[in-house]
Amino acid sequence: MKQITLLGATGSIGLQTADVIRNHPEQFSLFALAFGQNVEKALPLIHEFEPEIVVVHDEVVKSKLQVQGYRGQIYTGLDGMYEVATHDKVDVVVNAVMGSVGLSSTLGAIEAGKQIALANKETLVTAGHLVMDAAKRHNISILPVDSEHSAIFQCLNGESMKDVNKMILTASGGSFRDKTREQLQGVTVKDALNHPNWSMGAKITIDSATMMNKGLEVIEAHWLFNIPYDQIEVIQHRESVIHSMIEFVDKSVIAQLGTPDMRVPIQYALSYPNRLELHQTKTLDLIEIGALHFQKMDMDRFPCLKLAYEAGRIGGTMPTVLNAANEQAVDLFLKGKVSFLSIEELIERALQSHEVLELPNLETILRVDQETRELVKSYVF
Ligand code: NDP
Ligand code: MG
Repeated sequence: MKQITLLGATGSIGLQTADVIRNHPEQFSLFALAFGQNVEKALPLIHEFEPEIVVVHDEVVKSKLQVQGYRGQIYTGLDGMYEVATHDKVDVVVNAVMGSVGLSSTLGAIEAGKQIALANKETLVTAGHLVMDAAKRHNISILPVDSEHSAIFQCLNGESMKDVNKMILTASGGSFRDKTREQLQGVTVKDALNHPNWSMGAKITIDSATMMNKGLEVIEAHWLFNIPYDQIEVIQHRESVIHSMIEFVDKSVIAQLGTPDMRVPIQYALSYPNRLELHQTKTLDLIEIGALHFQKMDMDRFPCLKLAYEAGRIGGTMPTVLNAANEQAVDLFLKGKVSFLSIEELIERALQSHEVLELPNLETILRVDQETRELVKSYVF
């Protein structure tokens, strides 16, 4: 029985992780869950799974939970998340929080010898070298939950990285894939939140529309698989059937296919190296789909992808700035403070004004992250 700590339990990945645990009570048990504010979504999970510890964002949320009659142990804030991520009784930590707030807990969990199922790509973007160095030192596997990286991970099974020519990440194109840049001028938050293939949290849905999501995934792949940026390619594939692929040195290509259901990669990260039944998802029906389409990525149409490649190649604190500026800009867009096209402008400005610091430690990363958020806000207010 694997004891699981689930960070970000009330989110899109968190709820789907709970579903995987629910379907395999003989394999998995929820030891602790952490969330931010959403007491309404958390309460049914708490009643169903009866975790030993619940972590909430702050004292106000804690009181709300107690007013609802919850009498169990409640921890708060980043310290609380750190406690449950490093707890003796835990085997696996699923990091499904949104944004770089997941970093310290992930590092702590690695140092405490926990297996990590990582959905939270921002952690690897902002501090990939620290996370991967710690994982290497403590001999910990970081198992990808992101569908593209899970696909690559599955294609690599039994293969050697020295035989890999390139990794090809597929991109659905997001909510605005058929719009020109001119047509993007007046798009609204509601339009942007309407993703054609996947149902996800708000921030990643916007990242998909700007293509920053794919940019973050390129950096994520670089760190997870220790592969140079020149060997990571992105192609547009509107059906989201092929989740990603690898071309080997003999030009043989292996791809992983499936219906767009995040429970597949979540479950694989939890059950690895085994596979478990997943009755709840649809069988991939290629006859019904009929045809798969592929298109070159246009870097001028999607400048965020270009910015991510550039920041990744420069390295040091540049990806930290890319990520923090993006988190702040997307937050401002979701709050109606800036337009959709301002997102890329704000990120580019923050990157241009940054003097890169090589091999930053955790303290430097957290400082640069915070300063970048303030800088982006200062551009707007
Ligand atoms: P959601 O916005 O749906 O959920 C985010 C979760 O994190 C919620 O439980 C939220 O709590 C919690 N959270 C946010 N901020 C804090 C905080 N400061 N302290 C504690 N908890 C916090 O996001 P998704 O599930 O869509 O995405 C989560 C991660 O997984 C992201 O990194 C995303 O890029 C990645 N991912 C998501 C995919 C998807 O299909 N959704 C696919 C691939 C990767 P609350 O709402 O209660 O405040
Ligand atoms: Mg993905």
